[in-house]
Amino acid sequence: MIRINENYRKLQASYLFSEIARRVRRFQETNPDRDVIKLGIGDVTRALPPACIDAFRTAVEEMAADDTFRGYGPEQGYDFLREAIATNDYAARSVDIHPDDIFVSDGAKCDTANIQELFACDTRIAIPDPVYPVYVDTNVMAGRTGEWNNGRYSNVVYLDSTPDNNYVPDLPREKVDLIYLCFPNNPTGATVTHDQLAAWVRYAFDNKALILYDAAYACYIRGDSLPRSIYEIDGAREVAIEFQSFSKSAGFTGTRCAYTVVPEACRAYDSQGDVQFLNAMWNRRHTTKFNGVSYPVQRAAAAVYSAEGKRQTRELTDFYLGNAALIRDRMSTMGFSLVGGEHSPYIWLRIDGDSWEFFDRLLNEASVVVTPGSGFGACGEGHIRISAFNSRSAVVEAMRRIGALFQ
Ligand code: PLP
Repeated sequence: MIRINENYRKLQASYLFSEIARRVRRFQETNPDRDVIKLGIGDVTRALPPACIDAFRTAVEEMAADDTFRGYGPEQGYDFLREAIATNDYAARSVDIHPDDIFVSDGAKCDTANIQELFACDTRIAIPDPVYPVYVDTNVMAGRTGEWNNGRYSNVVYLDSTPDNNYVPDLPREKVDLIYLCFPNNPTGATVTHDQLAAWVRYAFDNKALILYDAAYACYIRGDSLPRSIYEIDGAREVAIEFQSFSKSAGFTGTRCAYTVVPEACRAYDSQGDVQFLNAMWNRRHTTKFNGVSYPVQRAAAAVYSAEGKRQTRELTDFYLGNAALIRDRMSTMGFSLVGGEHSPYIWLRIDGDSWEFFDRLLNEASVVVTPGSGFGACGEGHIRISAFNSRSAVVEAMRRIGALFQ
């Protein structure tokens, strides 16, 4: 008899974005003449940079001729891309990451989801609240959590991000083995300092723990005061795996390219307490279950590091940061307290009362869609997330409409 993985029964229905879509659809059916502005889902809205498109086209042409055609490539990614990443995202900032530490993939979502396969079933996990839901759900599927009770799973240490800690969670009081961190954060937009991150790295050393560091939004950090990579912290190469993505830096959400860094020195322990190196394990997993990102997509991603690509991707992220600054400014003027939007495309707004009621009010009275904070975890209640991914004119108009409600 074929039996199911019972852990799937513990999963909560993926309610957030489908419920938003349902409410927006209903609103549009009853108000067909109202123009709805969406500042909800975190998908980019602008086209790929021309440098990426040119490289993409050239690579497609190569695929059209027998003598330049490429079949299966290296599962870990082509050298031209791994070397460009190591040089530009790490060496240029004096961070020592070798191309062999880098695994190119089709998304930070898959990688943050799949990485937990490397660890024991009784691994004690710490997960931020609010959170990008993939970290939690994949551990539920793997059987690492208990049942869902009062809005939380048992056997998970939740790292509360609240106004009291300025949305950067405190170190856990108890001992945990695996820690998920994401900065700049989705959904809060909060950032972490070098000193705060160094405290997490110290915790990982002291507790023989490992940090999974999701830096998918690092490209929105401006200036030199904040870390763009956890490897800017001394010793992090031994205790952290990092996830980066071209989705939000270069508009690759539909094109799909990302990378995961597992430094050679990065370690975990076997049941005897002996050190085991994770680079070799992830390499085994990656080459067994993945056959590489397509050649034209990797060429398009490598073009991000050309002179033109750097200028164009900077212009792209600057554009979204301009939207974010506008949202921050207008919402603050209306008297809301908020975080994010300075080194992040997300603004996390404190509101009075229930976040779904607030969502409904903005939809019904301003025809603006945001994301209710409670959908990201218990600590998200009393908040909404506003995304800067839209045109400037849509953001200006959304702020005008919301302003008319609150001023
Ligand atoms: N990590 C975070 C925190 C995200 O918000 C997202 C996408 O929204 C991802 C990872 C997924 O990135 P990718 O498009 O590379 O799968």
